[in-house]
Formats: sequence, structure tokens, C-alpha cells
Amino acid sequence: MNPDIKNDIKNKDREPGSERSVRASDGMTASPAPQFTELRVLHVEDNEMDAALVAEALRKGGFSISVVVVQTEAEFEEQLRAHRPDVVIADYNLPQWKGMEALEVLRRGGLDIPLILVSGALGDVTAVECIKKGATDYVLKDGLARLPEAVRRALQEKHLLGLRRQAEEELARKAEELARSNAELEQFAYIASHDLQEPLRMVASYTQLLGERYRGKLDENADKYIGYASEGAIRMQTLIQDLLAFSRVGRKNSTSRRVDCDAEMAEVMMSMDLAMRESGARVTYAALPVVWADRSRMAQLFQNLIGNAIKFRGKDAPEISVQAEKVGSQWLFSVSDNGIGIEPQYAENIFVVFRRLHTRAEYPGNGIGLAICKKIVEHHGGKIWVESERGHGSTFKFTLPSEAETDRVI
Ligand code: ADP
Repeated sequence: MNPDIKNDIKNKDREPGSERSVRASDGMTASPAPQFTELRVLHVEDNEMDAALVAEALRKGGFSISVVVVQTEAEFEEQLRAHRPDVVIADYNLPQWKGMEALEVLRRGGLDIPLILVSGALGDVTAVECIKKGATDYVLKDGLARLPEAVRRALQEKHLLGLRRQAEEELARKAEELARSNAELEQFAYIASHDLQEPLRMVASYTQLLGERYRGKLDENADKYIGYASEGAIRMQTLIQDLLAFSRVGRKNSTSRRVDCDAEMAEVMMSMDLAMRESGARVTYAALPVVWADRSRMAQLFQNLIGNAIKFRGKDAPEISVQAEKVGSQWLFSVSDNGIGIEPQYAENIFVVFRRLHTRAEYPGNGIGLAICKKIVEHHGGKIWVESERGHGSTFKFTLPSEAETDRVI
């Protein structure tokens, strides 16, 4: 054994051949591993000479080290706690124990410490097996010059793995926080809109009553003001009902089942018959798929999109086409019209609650329809968007997972 190392053996009062501690930091050279002033090594080895050679190789490779050498599982466990190593180096074959079993001990203790095997001879197959089982690397005893590099790489990998885990945990925490705050917000919107209805009903009915009882009995301005107040209250009632409808989408009462979109469209057509006849609209659809969805929400989705295509029509009678095609594991639906179109810069805005591009005098509505469509589609695991140019009609597109995919989504 190297005399420098021998002189430094600690725990001299212990049984010979049990645990030995070796300090080899005296020969510190040029470039130690950046994050360690002293690398703590736990070495599983029965041969003193081999232990000394390993320490020597690390020292030569630029590490300042503190090494504890152990031979048995009990010693290993004890030193894991006492020494808290940065790296474990283990001889593959020991008389009483196997180096790979040290991995089990690390795993049991939930310790993420790299383990490098050092062996006189390790066939390729065994080496691959060991790496698969979790050893970080292996070095042959007659190639110890490679050991410092193997240690550096192992430490670097551990560092990167730590960073990745940290980033993943952070991401998971943020996602959870976002989901919670969204749920709270939805709950708030639901409760607020629900509870506001009652006092608002009072305001609306009493202003209406005032209007009816005192029309012509006060001065002209009073009639006008009461009229404004009454209109405002009624309008607020509609907004609150819309908000409530919006916040109800995706609440627990929705049930998913197989929905034949062709059959659903036929029903939507019947319910929209009057609007279609008044506007002279022609709606074509064929071979729409069966999807796994909430039936009434699907009807609402088609109805909102077709209703808009009729409402925002151009000079010609509305020509509306509903189609679907399979793209990968999704159905891609499109609802296209020949209406007034949308300027591309508003393509995202129109899906936000109460966002509209026109006054109510131009086109009636509250700006909730597309927000509801977005919520329905997203609740079913899809996406919705519009492709349009002002004056050239619009095509609303949305995706829904195909039946095979839906079990995972809904
Ligand atoms: P609303 O119809 O009550 O205005 P929506 O949320 O359904 O509310 O639509 C938001 C806005 O998107 C509409 O005000 C309109 O400007 C635009 N829009 C929606 N559908 C169409 C369409 N098919 N063609 C042109 N513009 C549309």
C-alpha cells in the first residue's frame, strides 16, 4: 500500500481488516471536480492494495478525496450514514458480499448516490446487466486511469438529473396551482352569478313596476331614467344568465356517451328551422363521426357555430357546411360559412367571454357563444380556432379525440 495513504488510516483501534479510512488529499493537484473541495468516497473493497490504487488514481486525476473503505453490508450501511459519500466505488466480487448489492442498500435508503463498479474482469454482458440494474459506470482494475473521468461524469449526470427533477417538480406544482386557481375561479363565477340573480330580479321587477305605475305621472325625464334603469337591469340579467351558462359547462353534471354527430346535427337543424327559413340558409353535412361526448354540449356547440354563421351572414343567403375528417388520433371538424368573415388579428379574442367585434345594434348577442364553444371543446380534450379573412367567410375548426382515445381524456 502507498505509504502516504497507510499513514493516514483512521480508526486504528478497530479490528484489522474491518473498516479503514484513507485520506489522500495531501497530493491535491491542478483541477478538482468543480463542485467539491473534497470528494467523499465510500469504497467497497477487500483488497488493501486495490483500495490504495483506486485512491491513487482519483488523486492523480485531480480529486482531493476522503475515502472510507468497507467490506461488508453492515459496514457499508453504517458508513453511508456516518460518511455521507458523494460517490460509491464497489468491487464487483467480494468474498462475503457483492458490489452490486450495495445498489440495493442505496435504493432501500432512497439514496441517489452514483455507484461505479471496479472489477478485475467484467464481461460485456455482465457490465451491461450491471448498468441496467442501476450502476452508473464500470472501470477495469487495469484501466484505473479512466476512473476520475468516470467519477466526474457520474457526478455531472447526478447534478443534471437533480436539476431536471427540480424543474419537473416545479412544473407539476405550477400545473396543480393553476388547476386549483382555475377551479376556484370557476366556483367563484358560478356562485357570484348564481347569487346575484336574486337581488337583480328584485331590481328588475321593481324598476319595471315603477315604469308601469308612474309612466306619465312624473316628468318626462323621470320616465326616461326609469326606462334606462329597467333596460340596464334586464340586460344585466341576461349577462348573468350567460355567465351562469358558461360556468355550468364542464361542471360535474355532464355525462359522456357515444354521440352520433349526424343524428345530433339533424336535431339541431330542426330546432333552428325558423332562423334558417328566415335567412334562407342552406346547411350541408354528411358522414359526421360518432364521438364520445356529452350529447347536449355537442348540440350546443353545433348550434352556437351554425347560429353565428347565420347571424354574421353577408349579402348572400348563408351557405354553411359542416364536415369532419380523421387526423391522427383526432377528429377535425370544420364549420364554414360565406359570411362577413373576421380579421385575423381578432381570431383569438373572439373566444374570450363577452368579447364581440360589433355593437348590439349591428348584431344582437352578448359575446358568450364562442367562449362556451371553447370550453365545451377543451372539456372534451380538443382545441378550437377560426380561419377567416374579413369579407371572405369563416371556417371554425375544432378537434375531438377519436373514440379510441377518449377513455383517457374524459
Ligand atoms: P355573439 O355572437 O353574441 O357576439 P360569440 O361569442 O358567439 O358572441 O361571437 C363573438 C364574436 O365573434 C361575434 O361578435 C362576431 O364578431 C364574431 N363571430 C363569431 N362567429 C362569426 C362568424 N361565423 N362570422 C363572422 N364573425 C363571427
